[in-house]
Amino acid sequence: MVVKMENLLNETVGLLVKYNKTRQDIDYVMAGDEWCTWEDFESRAKGINYDSGYGLAEINRDLCVVGKDWWLRRREYDGAEWWEFNTMPTKPKTQTRRILITTMEKDNYKAWRRVAKLVEADTGTMVDWHEKFFVCPECGEPLYEMDWDWYELEDELKCPICDGSFQ
Ligand SMILES: [Zn+2]
Repeated sequence: MVVKMENLLNETVGLLVKYNKTRQDIDYVMAGDEWCTWEDFESRAKGINYDSGYGLAEINRDLCVVGKDWWLRRREYDGAEWWEFNTMPTKPKTQTRRILITTMEKDNYKAWRRVAKLVEADTGTMVDWHEKFFVCPECGEPLYEMDWDWYELEDELKCPICDGSFQ
């Protein structure tokens, strides 16, 4: 068994340096329903050496170092344990009423988008990327991403309504 000794303070500061964070960026440290200052955490963490390799988890998994728009949390897999750096996500520009929730929806959307881009490039047809439909150049019907299993049509590139070829 590989023993990988880690000093908790060195590990924590090392990760903060990696993400350009200093002690001024830290708001507090929390574990479950309690919190302490960075200084109080620092004074105890410098004396904590633990085995970060596989085996029993040794650092409290609820421990979090919290900043304004970022935080460190403990991750653990099979006894191996480490800090994970997290930031608030950036809100995407495109709003949709139908977010892709299942992998099947995601695959279908990718297939539809691929077909829409090809038909747009080949025929200059109208594509509404927001509502997720494009106009069939043959029959003029709007072909919605959600109406067909596009990932099944991918090789044929035929209109599901008029059966006309897109190429
Ligand atoms: Zn058609």
